[in-house]
Amino acid sequence: MPERTIPVFDGHNDTLTKIRRGGPDSQQSFLERSELGHMDLLRAREGGLAGGFFAIFTSSPGYEWVVGELLDRDGEVVSGGWSVPLPPKLERRIATSWTLSVMSDLFRLEAESDGELEVVRTVADLQRCLAEGTFAVILHIEGAESIDRNLEALDVFYEAGLRSLGPVWSRPTIFGHGVPFDFPRSPDTGCGLTAAGARLVRRCNELGVLIDLSHLNEKGFWNVARISDAPLVATHSCAWSLCPTPRNLTDEQLDAVGESDGVVGINYAVGFLRADGNESGEVVTPVTEIVRHARYVVDRIGVDHVALGSDFDGATIPDDLGDVRDLPRLIEAFRDAGFEEKEIEQIAYRNWIRVLEQTWRA
Ligand SMILES: [Zn+2]
Repeated sequence: MPERTIPVFDGHNDTLTKIRRGGPDSQQSFLERSELGHMDLLRAREGGLAGGFFAIFTSSPGYEWVVGELLDRDGEVVSGGWSVPLPPKLERRIATSWTLSVMSDLFRLEAESDGELEVVRTVADLQRCLAEGTFAVILHIEGAESIDRNLEALDVFYEAGLRSLGPVWSRPTIFGHGVPFDFPRSPDTGCGLTAAGARLVRRCNELGVLIDLSHLNEKGFWNVARISDAPLVATHSCAWSLCPTPRNLTDEQLDAVGESDGVVGINYAVGFLRADGNESGEVVTPVTEIVRHARYVVDRIGVDHVALGSDFDGATIPDDLGDVRDLPRLIEAFRDAGFEEKEIEQIAYRNWIRVLEQTWRA
């Protein structure tokens, strides 16, 4: 007899970016069915995805993602290494315009979904959605370029439904500095939060907006750890000891997440999972790589502090996870690795609920 399906609540996807870039047809196809990318509502249901953090991300105009060689301090090419040049700071008006457009996409999807999809603003909303089978969406902004120094836009976005915010994507903002996409490299890549960044963290605490540490560099991470009164959360990162990309968390960072009663959402991106950092998708990466990182973090800081943060529609993921429909394979891989049902439930969704209860104001 097949084991029962465990629902998954997910820490990060880039599906809204995919939808915006695809135009109005792509919005409609999200509610019906599409073969585009990793996810639409029907495929999510088939895979047991109950909802997740939906990121709004503004790309830099004209920027192209180009993977090149990594050079060491002497200018020598690092064998097996890679590096992606980052764009400079993004103008606020560009980020604001894009952010409002994508938010409107999301609210239109909610309105047209016939009650199938809901943007949740409280833990009670989230729990009701999980109980009723309504697809629950948490509005997340990845990179705070659309927020001004006085944080006025933050108040407005909060009222609109924003409940999770990354002060930076990887390019710098007025609030702090992100990590580069290099391999291998330490996440300690430069200075920490700015004064405005410290104010942003305090205001997020006051409002009850989750602060996402994924993409922040190490000094920024420790600044947030010192300032914030909420559990520390990295929505979509893995273990640096297993894959030394600066997007992953060192053992000391993991320990801090655990001590704060926070959570790490294990990212499915092959370049953040594989020991060799190969992000090309040209070599086979099995779904067990996700479980390997989860096991490491569980052994280090405990099962209460591990969750999932897929990066669906934003990354190359393991080959046997074709898309969201294959989530049961991931659940099965956790079982095969000896995780108990209760532990898998924690990792799959319960830890997210606990952290949100401790972070949101309602
Ligand atoms: Zn990201």
